[in-house]
Amino acid sequence: MEAGIMENDNGNDSIYQIIREINDLLQKLEDTIRAAGINTPEENINLKEKIRLPSNYIRKVEHFEKVYLLHLFKDKELSKNIAYSIQYTDFLNYILSRTTLGKNALSIGSIFRKYATISVTSIIEAYLVGICEFVADACGSCKNINNCIPNGKVVNKDLHRLLRDIKEKKEMAKFKEALEIVNKIAPIDQNLYDILEKLREMRNHIHIQYFDKVKVSGAQIVRTKDFSKTEFRYPIQEYNEAIVALKSLPKVFQNVIDRLAKCSEKVNSLG
Ligand SMILES: [Zn+2]
Repeated sequence: MEAGIMENDNGNDSIYQIIREINDLLQKLEDTIRAAGINTPEENINLKEKIRLPSNYIRKVEHFEKVYLLHLFKDKELSKNIAYSIQYTDFLNYILSRTTLGKNALSIGSIFRKYATISVTSIIEAYLVGICEFVADACGSCKNINNCIPNGKVVNKDLHRLLRDIKEKKEMAKFKEALEIVNKIAPIDQNLYDILEKLREMRNHIHIQYFDKVKVSGAQIVRTKDFSKTEFRYPIQEYNEAIVALKSLPKVFQNVIDRLAKCSEKVNSLG
């Protein structure tokens, strides 16, 4: 079963009974704190005991390092950061699938889903950049680079030059560049590519005052892009798409590895 948020109901009576008990207890906890004279959330209470997340939901960071082939990233800090960030998506999945925040509605949940989707997208970005660093290390100054990677333009840059600059740490690929570099070396499934591109644009909505230029009756107008009364934004389906895209990245990386397997420099440097 994919870790996305399910839309059909797979619950049963004993599960719902527990959920009702938890809901009653959570409410009782806040009522009891208020009854003790604490005006939450303006005032707060320091408790030496806390609510714990269950121990068997969030998977170990080693699991993600293995599944995402992160040992192949030369930058160990980047790979650790990515592994812990992917682990954090288990927490996001937990909140979205166990609480009402995962239900599509105009509420605090919309904002939560927005930032959850942006979090997943920033992991996707870091991972794609990591793949580019892998490529640059393997082949960035390879004498036979034309055999390994056909040259071309990436955004406005020369691909071979960009890879050299990445290898020499003069550059770090930006999201769009990373996406294009990876796609040039081992073409990404079109449907996945479109989703990654859509997420990249959506990630820019991190600005609450985000502007968009749209044509209305031929005239260019500017409007705020986030929430409005007439448009429903940040549905759970969009979050699920981001999670599925993230999960498909190890395969994308593997395709790049396979494509570079014949690089003579890489063979020499490994041998
Ligand atoms: Zn090469």
